[in-house]
Amino acid sequence: MTGTPTGTDFLTRIHPMFLRIDRLAIELPKPKGQDPASASAVQELLGGRFGEMSTLMNYTYQSFNFRGRTKAKPYYDLITNIATEELGHIELVSATINSLLTGTREMNPDDEANVTGTPLGMGLTGGNPHHFIATGLGSLCGNAGGNAWTGDYVFSSGNLILDLLHNFFLENGARTNKLRVYEMTNDPCARQMLGYLFVRGGVHALAYGKALQQLTGVEMSKMLPIPRIANSSFPEAKKFEDEGLHRRLYRYSPNDFRDAGYVWEGTHPDDGQPLEYLDGAPEGSKMPDLANISEAFAPDYKAEEIFEMAQQLYKKSRA
Ligand code: MN
Ligand code: MN
Repeated sequence: MTGTPTGTDFLTRIHPMFLRIDRLAIELPKPKGQDPASASAVQELLGGRFGEMSTLMNYTYQSFNFRGRTKAKPYYDLITNIATEELGHIELVSATINSLLTGTREMNPDDEANVTGTPLGMGLTGGNPHHFIATGLGSLCGNAGGNAWTGDYVFSSGNLILDLLHNFFLENGARTNKLRVYEMTNDPCARQMLGYLFVRGGVHALAYGKALQQLTGVEMSKMLPIPRIANSSFPEAKKFEDEGLHRRLYRYSPNDFRDAGYVWEGTHPDDGQPLEYLDGAPEGSKMPDLANISEAFAPDYKAEEIFEMAQQLYKKSRA
């Protein structure tokens, strides 16, 4: 093999295990202001028992440990493919936390909530001080109580029905926590993320319910939604349903996981519209470019020097 493989040639020759696209699932509006308390609450949805780290790692380990993947391929493809979507969800929830911690920079450090008037005084206003001290106004891989996410939250039993039943429960537990955070914060950025994830979590809960129904005959979808309040009750979710996102599962691979479409088929129980299994990731949105915060030394006190060095690299490569 010679030279650097490119394009589809690269895909067929190298067989990468994971690809990554530098796009955010949706565009997030600006937060109302720096809101460390909301940022701490949203942490539960990232690194809590029912957070996106848990959905990601549960489905990922279940896919690693799946037995009979050729013979039970539709179910392997479903779990594996949803795991990939969850990777995009931890990215989106992290982006929300970063946005809430950063706020609109013009407001700082004169935010009236900053009672000490010190450069990082907003870290004393009721959020998690660890966000200010340890991560320089960045997300944590942990929950709202400040505890780290743990692999103890992963359930991978080896029994397909039990794993699917667990995943159905996990998606609904995640939804319950999200609904509560929605009722805690009125920040538009947090609520936008929540509205989108209500809809995507609804797809996952229904998909696992349909898989269980195929395998056991039990009509799991009759239990949905849990709690019994429709996603369409929330304007931030309704707009995504109006676009049809509650009916779409995306296939996050150039060539693989096609058979999840044997599970995600038929019509949506809410509106009777056809379910769709679409090739490729949704278009997504530009990744936010987080501003430097000199008072937190992120990426440094005089960030301009680092930025200048990066520019020199481009100049050198062009010369
Ligand atoms: Mn998710
Ligand atoms: Mn999910």
